[in-house]
Amino acid sequence: QHLLGRIDRLDGKLNSFITVTYDQALAAADAADKARAAGEADLLTGLPLALKDIFCTQDIKTTAGSRMLDNFISPYDATVVEKLKAAGTVSLGKTNMDEFAMGSSNENSHYGAVKNPWDLTAVPGGSSGGSAAAVAAGLVPAAIGTDTGGSIRQPAAFCGITGLKPTYGRVSRYGMIAYASSLDQAGPMARSAEDCALLLGAMAGHDLRDSTCVARGVPDYTEELDTPLTGLKIGLPREYFGDGLDPQVEAAVRDAIKVYESLGASVREVSLPHTHYAIPAYYVIAPAEASSNLSRFDGVRFGHRCANPADLIDLYKRSRAEGFGDEVKRRILIGTHTLSEGFFDAYYKKAQQVRRLIRQDFLDAFEEVDVLMGPASPTPAFDLGAKKDPVSMYLQDIYTIAINLAGIPGMSVPAGFAGSRPIGLQILGSHFTEARLLNVAHQFQ
Ligand code: GLN
Repeated sequence: QHLLGRIDRLDGKLNSFITVTYDQALAAADAADKARAAGEADLLTGLPLALKDIFCTQDIKTTAGSRMLDNFISPYDATVVEKLKAAGTVSLGKTNMDEFAMGSSNENSHYGAVKNPWDLTAVPGGSSGGSAAAVAAGLVPAAIGTDTGGSIRQPAAFCGITGLKPTYGRVSRYGMIAYASSLDQAGPMARSAEDCALLLGAMAGHDLRDSTCVARGVPDYTEELDTPLTGLKIGLPREYFGDGLDPQVEAAVRDAIKVYESLGASVREVSLPHTHYAIPAYYVIAPAEASSNLSRFDGVRFGHRCANPADLIDLYKRSRAEGFGDEVKRRILIGTHTLSEGFFDAYYKKAQQVRRLIRQDFLDAFEEVDVLMGPASPTPAFDLGAKKDPVSMYLQDIYTIAINLAGIPGMSVPAGFAGSRPIGLQILGSHFTEARLLNVAHQFQ
């Protein structure tokens, strides 16, 4: 009730929620109270949280930030939603996001931009901007996001919270509206690494309904949080400290690394030589997969349907023209082009080959060091409306995108401010080293 009151009072300024589920939240809280009274409460019983509006929720609308799904009510819960419910958590609602998770500022939402709680003239980052802003403003202690090319880590950095993108395959994608299926991954966004550890434990695990979800036990992610960092080998990728990095961000990251040295870690420079190919490779692969995934929105089975179609082709054309926003259309056009006959080898296949090299860069680096550290984003949160040109927006993703191409886990943790705007330190590890990353993040907090 306290948090629902805060949402009522404050979210008019932030626009971080698309749907607030008052009745369901109060009923779930009631059930949690009863479980507690009966001595059946677990650690997360009654924990309020919010879900990015990309996770299907039974009986509650799921929009993916798009006019296309403005009236869509899923007949089932996503696996992540099911698992979090089973753990006793209480969802307060669905958070705002860039349309179909395409964006780095949350300005691509059909439901309007989200404001950064630290500075209402700044973006909260994207695409999980609503989740990040809601946690930063204290509307919920935790929220769930998705990260295809940085959408958990970059908004976490811009809003001064902790966010974790797990290894690809660690968390089920079933019921998560698909953007780029080979890159999408859900993860927790919260105040601390400890909270993220608790949430990841509840979200992760094998799911027969997602064939890419890995059959591997889920450890207790809180167990290693207090392990001392003596002897930890940290690598600083040379390519993450080059041109375009804001000096205040660089200073904050270097200060954080000094803290790690004082905790007993050793630091050395490493190289990820294919870094500069990450943005071009991603912006071929992600739109290609998106153009295929988004072909299901045809005005026939679900989603927006235009009024009075003349015939079937008119129905497809106008439903899609009206239902999708500009950035989504741009990506569908790019993806359809790169997958078309005669261009496939030159673009999509080439990008997949580059992806392999990028992945190998990380595997080579993790032969030498335990974790990599650098900035989560080249700048602190920028002003709302500042990046009108799509390419300048894509360049924002320089430090986050390669991680998804490689499938490895990554975190952003708060590491200071530039004026009133937070800065995020990014911590990367090899596949399935989430417990180690959480440990490293926790020791800094
Ligand atoms: N900014 C990137 C994009 O627009 C990443 C988004 C994401 O991770 N969902 O595709």
